Amino acid sequence: MNRTSGGVNIVRADLDGRIVCVRVVDGIVVSLDSSRPDRADEVIDARGAALLPGLHDHHLHLAALGASLASVDLGASRRTPEEVSAALRSGPGVGWVRAVGYHESVVGPLDRYALDAIVADRPMRVQHRSGVEWVLNSRAVEMVQLDGIRHPGVERDDHDRPTGRVRGLDTQLRSRWSEGSLDLAPVGALLAGFGVTGVTDATPYESIDDVMVLAGAVPQRVMVMGAPPLDVSRVPQGLQVGPAKIVVGDHALPTVDELVAAMRVARRKERAVAVHCVTRVALILALAAWDEVGSREGDRIEHGAIIDAELAARVHELGLVVVTQPNFVAERGDRYLDEVDPADLDHLYPCGSLLAAGTRVGGSTDAPFGRPDPWATMRAAVARVAPDGRPVGPHERIGARAAMDLFLSSPDSPGGPVRRIAIGEAADLCMLDRPMAAVLGSLQPSVVMTMVGGRIVHRDPR
Ligand SMILES: [Zn+2]
Repeated sequence: MNRTSGGVNIVRADLDGRIVCVRVVDGIVVSLDSSRPDRADEVIDARGAALLPGLHDHHLHLAALGASLASVDLGASRRTPEEVSAALRSGPGVGWVRAVGYHESVVGPLDRYALDAIVADRPMRVQHRSGVEWVLNSRAVEMVQLDGIRHPGVERDDHDRPTGRVRGLDTQLRSRWSEGSLDLAPVGALLAGFGVTGVTDATPYESIDDVMVLAGAVPQRVMVMGAPPLDVSRVPQGLQVGPAKIVVGDHALPTVDELVAAMRVARRKERAVAVHCVTRVALILALAAWDEVGSREGDRIEHGAIIDAELAARVHELGLVVVTQPNFVAERGDRYLDEVDPADLDHLYPCGSLLAAGTRVGGSTDAPFGRPDPWATMRAAVARVAPDGRPVGPHERIGARAAMDLFLSSPDSPGGPVRRIAIGEAADLCMLDRPMAAVLGSLQPSVVMTMVGGRIVHRDPR
């Protein structure tokens, strides 16, 4: 990484079809013209390739992504129980084995005893693909003293012994299963390689200590949500405070009154809310709560996995933004086609219909629950094809430009105006390997250089 406060000229850059020289001084774009660069400056030759504002991923989870990079991935490539067992036994490092991406369709239901049969000598926790459930082996059950936690999320057998399955306990368990400080540098580098210069962390943190970990941890600009109770006055400088995250659990649905109460906690702090809704019922509950509390600028629906025409009309009326993840269609579309209620299939992760109706839509990956590559997400929004090639809601397809725009709005206005490279703007930039017309043709460019506030955070030699 190099400091570039002395000034950088990015020459021969394709800015929406116009070849220009972009001059950056002290982290700010100071000129945009076709003239030759000042010799004293560092020169980066774009060779006619596209220069974009850096991408903003409007919903992901930094710490979980960092942990997942250090985890056993039980996702796509492990297709048999034997492959899953072998992967768990060869978990990296010493101490905890952490695994993600488990799904019962591959290994059947898991509990502590099933895990003990695979790994008994190290504490192990395995996260369900949905992100909402963990299964612990007996060693881990003992280490986190699960037996002593009285909470409906601790599943117990007929003898009142924890089965190892836990839900909704991440906040309580985080300190008990911490594996030392988490290094997020690999996350920052990974995202910079995609041209991501900003992220919104959608984790519903309640404790300021958990948020502190994110300060300065990645080179990207970071907006944090946190839950309504989070003391936002203590969020460290350098992190932007976003809307308060409220989770309408898919399995333990809250009442409308509970949602109203959570929204009011946020409102008392003058905060917008971001409500996690992945089922029809969840969205109906959330809209009922909004009807009572009233919506305000910045309020958003996270995921909006099922929004039919009637619900979409109410979303639009309330002026709510939808932050979607088209990548789930490409990553899980075959399972959706097989498992989702046929009545909902036409309304799965809508995008095109929302945009056509004038609802603002922001793009995101939900990494690590979705893959962290925004370009793959854009391609998914355009193609709407399941992994096995079947179309998923093809009427929700959008064009390549609209797909790119999902990641080009500002953090505080997903789906709002597209950020531009302009004089006086922060130099958050992403230089690609081909002209804009070719980028839009495939949405599969390589990112040659990524700059955050004038600082180069990723550079690929060409
Ligand atoms: Zn999420």
